[in-house]
Amino acid sequence: MSIAKSISTYKEELGKVQLVAVSKTKPSSDILEAYNAGQRHFGENKIQEMASKFEELPKDICWHMIGHIQTNKIKYMAPFVHLVHGVDRRKVLVELNKQAVKHHRVINCLLQVHIAKEETKFGLDREELEGIISELTEFSNVKVVGLMGMATNTKDEEVVNSEFAALKALYDTHADTCGWTTLSMGMSGDYKLAIQNGSTHVRIGSAIFGARNYS
Ligand SMILES: *Cc1c(COP(=O)(O)O)cnc(C)c1O
Repeated sequence: MSIAKSISTYKEELGKVQLVAVSKTKPSSDILEAYNAGQRHFGENKIQEMASKFEELPKDICWHMIGHIQTNKIKYMAPFVHLVHGVDRRKVLVELNKQAVKHHRVINCLLQVHIAKEETKFGLDREELEGIISELTEFSNVKVVGLMGMATNTKDEEVVNSEFAALKALYDTHADTCGWTTLSMGMSGDYKLAIQNGSTHVRIGSAIFGARNYS
């Protein structure tokens, strides 16, 4: 299926759930094809790659940083980033806030929670999450608008389902008091389960743009 056709198919299927088209490693020409099909939200996992694509591409694109954050690179995205999904430690909030102040803006972000069985996936555990939530008033120019998580990479739907359900339950514990609006969960392989569990933003890459080549 062409990129344009995939975009329109997903948009129709997703309805009110926001599609974040994950364009990491893909050329700007692919992003433009999706853009011309009406897509405006794109996700990248490397800050500098996102910043150079921002320079080249139409300025009404909403750029989502979905990858692990290196604090020394935050300055490159601070002027334009739409939503930072992967906030997993206090140090990231400190630097995001500093750069947001410098650019006279408020940067929206999500706290990443560790829900998968794999040790390798980043994210806060519950206790760390509560700790960070209690400290948020320190950060005048960062606004936490919800949570993000990645399920275990497995075909076992029960495992994935229970991980998404756990994240949704955690989200619901805080959503009203914290004024949250955004629950980012679900990728090409598991977005349907994520939506069944209340996801508001799905991050879909390879199912739209084709397999990535990292060589
Ligand atoms: C790459 C990536 C995705 C998209 O993965 P696909 O399986 O290609 O849809 C989603 N979320 C994060 C955090 C990613 O790094």
